[in-house]
Amino acid sequence: MRMSQLFAPTLWEVPAEAETISHQYLLRAGMIRRIAAGIYTYLPLAQRVLEKIEEIVREEMNKQGGQELKMPTLHPAELWQESSRWDAYGKELFRLQDRHERDYCLGPTHEEVITDLVRREVNSYRQLPLLLYQIQTKFRDEIRPRFGLIRGREFTMKDLYSFDRDQEGLDISYQKMYDAYSAIFRRCALKFQVVEADTGAIGGTDSHEFIVVADTGEDEIVYCEGCDYAANVERAVAADEEEDYREPEGELELVSTPGVSTIDAVASFFKAPPRRLLKTLVYLAIDGETYKPVVVVLRGDREVNEIKLQNHLGCMHLALADAETVREITGAPVGFAGPVGLVDVPLLIDREVMAVVNGVCGANKADYHWINVNPGRDFPTSEIADIRRVVAGDKCHSCGSPLHSARGIEVGHIFKLGTKYSEDLGATFLDGEGRERPIVMGCYGIGVPRTMAAAIEQNHDEKGIIWPMSIAPYQVVIVPVNSKNSEQMDLAEVLYAEMNEAGIEVVIDDRDERAGVKFNDADLIGFPLRVTIGSRSLKEGKVEIKDRATGKVTLVKAGEAVGVLQEKIKKASAAR
Ligand SMILES: [Zn+2]
Repeated sequence: MRMSQLFAPTLWEVPAEAETISHQYLLRAGMIRRIAAGIYTYLPLAQRVLEKIEEIVREEMNKQGGQELKMPTLHPAELWQESSRWDAYGKELFRLQDRHERDYCLGPTHEEVITDLVRREVNSYRQLPLLLYQIQTKFRDEIRPRFGLIRGREFTMKDLYSFDRDQEGLDISYQKMYDAYSAIFRRCALKFQVVEADTGAIGGTDSHEFIVVADTGEDEIVYCEGCDYAANVERAVAADEEEDYREPEGELELVSTPGVSTIDAVASFFKAPPRRLLKTLVYLAIDGETYKPVVVVLRGDREVNEIKLQNHLGCMHLALADAETVREITGAPVGFAGPVGLVDVPLLIDREVMAVVNGVCGANKADYHWINVNPGRDFPTSEIADIRRVVAGDKCHSCGSPLHSARGIEVGHIFKLGTKYSEDLGATFLDGEGRERPIVMGCYGIGVPRTMAAAIEQNHDEKGIIWPMSIAPYQVVIVPVNSKNSEQMDLAEVLYAEMNEAGIEVVIDDRDERAGVKFNDADLIGFPLRVTIGSRSLKEGKVEIKDRATGKVTLVKAGEAVGVLQEKIKKASAAR
């Protein structure tokens, strides 16, 4: 490819719309352009990277026995109604009607469509297991599309669905995908962590996320260095803190606390550590048009993990009650709620609260608190659950070492679905004994553009992108320093022809531009190797090869350049 012809309009200003490094560099390197919120055109350089990632994905899927197919993006509402997700998916589902006013949606995922196919075509255990996948466009009406390709409304995804006879079969398929995903992200040269994940709207039991570690990531993970425990914070659990000494229970006492309503104020008023306070919150568990209040109690130094809470309650949505509802339920303004004496409303106690002795809580009466409050004695503890948010420093539940936290970008997600969809949609098969059984399913997704963006988040410097060799849009750029110098230009053309001949993916910067402009563009776009042809080295018949990642420069004879480059490309591709 000739730089003079390459459609990669680079920018030198940082675009105002770009919030993260990957977003900035994708725009500045002329790789993407936005047409509406969360919707992008991929320009030729981006398209090449995406195709390379897709090819790696395809190879690893096929290696595990996956078969590629392609399903439609336009789905009839009936299928989504069968799985109950037409309602459950909520506003993220792009819905539309055809000319006959029939309802459709644009697929955000394909469990319904693939299960419909399989229920029609598979009926015997002999046809199982089956691993089917596609690489295709998905649509999600995100409430806040942002970070460029990280959270878009239209994006490419690889989704594979596994169909097995039983749980053991699913375990095998799941492990195959776990291995395939690890291989894919290794081949893309990404540093990633596999974590236990929440199953969310897709449903199912086991689930893991593949998280590319990056400070700009939207996901928070916790991990243990003492053992291999790692989880998305949405799902993370930790050991409960235990008190070394359990003081004798004191007598419940009402104390006047005028205007003392925040955790900090209460803690300093009573000179008690926040962990002794019983934080009491009123939530609304919402299902469609109906909602019911739930009072949640946790330690004053803890936050509610709303995902855990929602999973425990089994509701579709969750919201904190407004001040008026809090007053209606507790009889007090916000800040004075407590579990003592609350009746007619379900009380959910965080597990850790059970270790609190002589705690402090609001008295459900403006400007009053109870002290010496003890769970069980002073309020019912019939419903206990782990609903707290784990933080760095908490102890690992399996080995007791302190947990660490990090941010990252979720690039892959695998789920054991079990029989949820096969039962909802009636996808069954006859086993060896002729009994009808539901097919056991799993689903496995990789966001392709997101993987490209994550690679940039991890591989860049202040000059631009540093593409890993395996997914670079081109492997080499040739830069003749002086475009007026015919000797340099001629050698550049000779090397360009030789490299093309040798199968190297190469761009020649044949533009009539200053050297600085060409170097800057080369660094911004992030070609892994740059061949520089300048007068000084040329006097000795040599050219310079510069490694974008390390900055290391080697001088080689012009006639040996192609061989040296081939060797470097081979080494860089095999490095992972
Ligand atoms: Zn551990």
